[in-house]
Amino acid sequence: MGKGIPITVAHGDGIGPEIMEATLRILEAAGAPLDIERIDIGEKVYLAGNTAGIEPQAWDSLRRTKVFLKAPITTPQGGGFKSLNVTVRKTLGLYANVRPCVAYDPFVRTKHPGMDVVIIRENEEDLYAGIEYRQTADVTQCLKIITRPGCENIVRYAFEYARRNNRKKVTCFTKDNIMKITDGLFHRVFDEIAALYPDIENEHWIVDIGAAKLADTPEVFDVVVMPNLYGDILSDVAAQVAGSVGLAGSANIGKHVAMFEAIHGSAPRRAGQNLANPSGLLLGAVMMLVHLGLNEQASHVHNAWLRTIEDGVHTYDIFKEGVSTEKVGTREFADAVIERLGQEPRQLKPARYAAADDTTAPPEPKPAPKPVKTLVGVDVSLEWTGGTPDDLGALVSRANGDGLELKLITSRGIKVWPTYAPETLLSGYWRCRFTTGSPDATVTHQQVINLLQRFRDMNLDFLKTEHLYHFDGAPGYSMGQGE
Ligand code: NAD
Repeated sequence: MGKGIPITVAHGDGIGPEIMEATLRILEAAGAPLDIERIDIGEKVYLAGNTAGIEPQAWDSLRRTKVFLKAPITTPQGGGFKSLNVTVRKTLGLYANVRPCVAYDPFVRTKHPGMDVVIIRENEEDLYAGIEYRQTADVTQCLKIITRPGCENIVRYAFEYARRNNRKKVTCFTKDNIMKITDGLFHRVFDEIAALYPDIENEHWIVDIGAAKLADTPEVFDVVVMPNLYGDILSDVAAQVAGSVGLAGSANIGKHVAMFEAIHGSAPRRAGQNLANPSGLLLGAVMMLVHLGLNEQASHVHNAWLRTIEDGVHTYDIFKEGVSTEKVGTREFADAVIERLGQEPRQLKPARYAAADDTTAPPEPKPAPKPVKTLVGVDVSLEWTGGTPDDLGALVSRANGDGLELKLITSRGIKVWPTYAPETLLSGYWRCRFTTGSPDATVTHQQVINLLQRFRDMNLDFLKTEHLYHFDGAPGYSMGQGE
């Protein structure tokens, strides 16, 4: 291909090599100036003893080219193999997952003919930070991490994506009526950044009703941005209801490197038979061309693909009597797309990737002033099975002193002391909140250490502490349920 833009390509496992070959052939025929560096990932790398499924030298290529076109891989059965996608995403800081979910009615079966939604999912934080603990025989915990820079990156990305792709609206899904601090931060940052994009409509939905609406009436959504867990679930729901699971591509975007792929897996049972549909990987590759600024080639490939679908040239997975005109294999499908380069769809909406307007730099949010942080108390969690919550309250109150007093005990977040409802399920894991009694008095680390020393002297089995801070006088912790 000559002096082109360097990209890293992995052919993957199962149907991977066939669909990659078809995809690369189409890109070449469209005149995309690419220089390909090939790396090995997947099954044989895993089975050679590399638990991450990627060869160490492959990272050099990824860091050099900064663009990764990846075919699906097979994760070997059995324990000890780490998810390659998670490793790549975490190592390279790919914070945004972008998944367009489009209906191609009447050419591909769908429940929602008008659907054209892009799900933008935060990819690094939330409950997926992987910080979990088993704290007693019966009690486990997973930490939900949401940071301001993490929210700013993903929300900014969503609005920039909308602007670049001529989208009209960005919707945010959170559950901030319950998780007021973590999801509350995501929602607040969304509102702050939305205000910098007055040309784009914005709205927020609570994720439960938002998800129901997305499954029922997806036509009302355009770009939807959300934290990691909701995005993981709803991007699959959205692809499924669009009818495009086998056709969808996705992008994982970082500040330095970006990865493009199909959303489906390696379909081992279809491998090597010239049966697989290369469309998901091809549409991932179209996103890659746009990322590289090759807008003209991206439009060409995308429109030739739409025309192929419209002309009824279909692989087995989307073939339908009466709609399809020709059942083709992977290679013939690629040939059909190549024949149609330069053509546009007649009925489906053509793709138009405009040249990036470099003069419109993303608007910068005003940096928020750093709030004054004051330590006002501490939660000490302990395991104890010696009696009722009243017994525990009386016992733990004996640790009062040195300015700190027991204010509250919760079990599973529900208040059980000083008063409790007999119906409350108790777990043997208790969170004891100590404060000074005066809202603004500052607690010192030494007071916390002294408190833990008294716990130790009383043989109380404390498991962890959590500091209670005020930020500019506002509590940075949740109240106990029923407090
Ligand atoms: P899959 O997506 O590979 O297959 C699901 C179904 O869809 C199968 O019936 C398959 O034949 C069909 N299918 C998938 N892609 C197709 C295509 N392009 N054309 C025609 N039919 C297609 O999911 P699976 O069977 O659950 O997983 C198989 C393997 O893929 C597993 O090892 C899994 O770990 C891996 N996987 C990899 C990725 C990735 O690399 N990103 C993603 C998902 C699954």
